[in-house]
Amino acid sequence: MSEPDFHQILGVTPSASAAEIKRAFKRLAMRWHPDRNADPRAHEQFRLAREAFEHLTGLRESEPPVSTDEKPSAQRPKGDDHRLHVDLDLHEAAFGGVVTVTLAGRVGCESCGGSGRRSYGRTTMCSACHGSGRVRSGGGLKSCPSCSGKGYFTENQCADCEGRGWNPSDRQLAVSIPPAMMPGEELRVAGQGGPAPEDGEPGDLYLVLHTRPHPLFRLEGRDIHTDLPVSVFRVLAGGVVDVPTLGGIRETLLPESSSATEIRVTGAGFPGRGRRSAGDLVAHLQVHYPRFLSKEQKALLEMADQILHQQLDDQSPPLARWRETLKQQQNR
Ligand SMILES: [Zn+2]
Ligand SMILES: [Zn+2]
Repeated sequence: MSEPDFHQILGVTPSASAAEIKRAFKRLAMRWHPDRNADPRAHEQFRLAREAFEHLTGLRESEPPVSTDEKPSAQRPKGDDHRLHVDLDLHEAAFGGVVTVTLAGRVGCESCGGSGRRSYGRTTMCSACHGSGRVRSGGGLKSCPSCSGKGYFTENQCADCEGRGWNPSDRQLAVSIPPAMMPGEELRVAGQGGPAPEDGEPGDLYLVLHTRPHPLFRLEGRDIHTDLPVSVFRVLAGGVVDVPTLGGIRETLLPESSSATEIRVTGAGFPGRGRRSAGDLVAHLQVHYPRFLSKEQKALLEMADQILHQQLDDQSPPLARWRETLKQQQNR
């Protein structure tokens, strides 16, 4: 028993490309799919076409068969996936929010009801035979090949949609962004990609998230860095400073050592998700010195300085003795 002629079943030439075979199968599938066609022959016709398609495309390494799976969902063709870049502010990325994206959509053509054809064809004269339907050939006249001897063409493509059956139409889509989405991560919005092919489902939309620069915070991994101005008096005296975080002000104790240059607030950075724990807030201390001091401030500082000197002398007896010697020499 010889193999059926798969090319003939699909109505393509033996040299047909994979794309041509695909198109031919799609045409037949649209016509004969049992879901769409009540004709008793439909089932067998569809089965034959699918067998031919799968056989022919299976022969091409680069073109795997559409599906050998019997599940109907796996057989449904899918529209293109689309990718869209979305800028969030850091707060939205951390705690979630709603963004509105503009998508290139389609709206069915009202003029033709989506068919792409107009009900009354517009007639244009054939320019090859000037409407006569015949052209000169080898001293005689023959039927015009351009118009098949009719002398005119009937144009019944819908002019409003150029035969597509739809017109482009932007649409707005509000998308909820879940919390703790890091820049560069993608959010899948099912069914909002390219339009569904005949008898298929639409593609998916992928939102690629980015964060706008923040005036206060810099994101490094999940840690958030910020600069924090602190007065030199506060640094010397120690105590509590107000550290800004994404979630608000955090009162934080300054480190014991007044020479520390940063404070780390554990877990106060970018929130965690899944197995990733939250980052830290790292405040880089920017110590500010006063430009002018009042008399009272100066007096207080003098007092503080003398106490400090006393401590230095206590800590270093040789220095204290040397100072004493200097004083005695000056007094001579
Ligand atoms: Zn139309
Ligand atoms: Zn003609």
